[in-house]
Amino acid sequence: MGEEPHTVDPDHMDEIISGVERSGKVTPPGHPAYDFKPETDLIFDKKQPLPGHANGMSFSAFDHEGRLLLKRIYYSIGGGFVVTDTELEAMKAQKKTASSDRVPYPFASARQMLDMSRGAGLTIAQMKRANELTKMSAEELDAGLDRIWAAMKNCIDRGLKVDGIMPGGLKVKRRARDIHDKLNAEWRSNRLNPLLANDWLSVYAMAVNEENAGGGRVVTAPTNGAAGVIPATIRYFLHFHEDATEEDVRNFLLTAAAVGGIIKHNASISGAEVGCQGEVGSAAAMAAAGLASVLGGSPEQIENAAEIALEHHLGMTCDPIAGLVQVPCIERNALGAVKAVTAASLAIKGDGTHFVPLDACIETMRQTGNDMSEKYKETSTGGLAVNVVEC
Ligand code: SF4
Repeated sequence: MGEEPHTVDPDHMDEIISGVERSGKVTPPGHPAYDFKPETDLIFDKKQPLPGHANGMSFSAFDHEGRLLLKRIYYSIGGGFVVTDTELEAMKAQKKTASSDRVPYPFASARQMLDMSRGAGLTIAQMKRANELTKMSAEELDAGLDRIWAAMKNCIDRGLKVDGIMPGGLKVKRRARDIHDKLNAEWRSNRLNPLLANDWLSVYAMAVNEENAGGGRVVTAPTNGAAGVIPATIRYFLHFHEDATEEDVRNFLLTAAAVGGIIKHNASISGAEVGCQGEVGSAAAMAAAGLASVLGGSPEQIENAAEIALEHHLGMTCDPIAGLVQVPCIERNALGAVKAVTAASLAIKGDGTHFVPLDACIETMRQTGNDMSEKYKETSTGGLAVNVVEC
């Protein structure tokens, strides 16, 4: 319908889709109206995966005699990237031959990141900023970071306002709004709640993942399924730290991106490749690193925070019930955010020295993912997905 993910009005999306359902037509700008009936023309073939990646979609256009006019295959490869089959092949070939980009701090592992940070006397966020500035101006970078945080914040706000049943047939109720109302009442009553921070973290993460499940706009961070952990941790930080600044949010995102890049480079951020440890586990490691950085952590403490968060997601499978990113995904993001904050807090209280290096933890995740049965990699053929009766 000519809409773009970053500009479509989330409050208008349901109307657009029901318009297509009612009329049986799609009308992309600059094109005539095409016949399209979602109930028969969208075929969810869960049995035959496409060759390039587990998350694939094939689009075919036919004329009125049923002759195939055009066919395109697209893959959603994680991290918000959607590519055609040809682009995917080119990317795979490039990955085999490419050396690192020409950036001033080309760290490909946590070890290198720490060595470069020590050598240059820069924080992780400062090195990441310097790398990004090879591709854009400082103004563009800050504007981009601010746009990301604004989209995350709007997503939380919308998720806290909307209630009802999420689409897909599982009839799972949205809970963030109700929990938020209760937390607000409690906040006003001044009653001591020993789980206060956990409750706020959880409700923020759930708001985002309910938006994701409802087809709303989220920031892939690092994926849609794990999109709640980083926004919840930033919002928690702003909520409980009155002196937090805009610059803190930018540094949080830059540090989180540095850690996410290392994980993606050496293992995976895709549930279809390594299970949920790669999605919520990576998100928690990124959030823990970001939070440790804005709490004043040293590069070693930041690396420690990421490692603690990732280590305690190792082995976690991907088993969404009915293939919908709802159960266990929504609560899993809440718990991922709680682990991220706990990991940052533990790391900040230490001196940065620790037993398991982040690189070893990432390599463990990669190996565990390789050994994991396909049943637990976003196929919904194992785990909770087969042990809970859908009704
Ligand atoms: S269970 Fe699977 S779909 Fe759900 S958040 Fe984890 S990786 Fe994503």
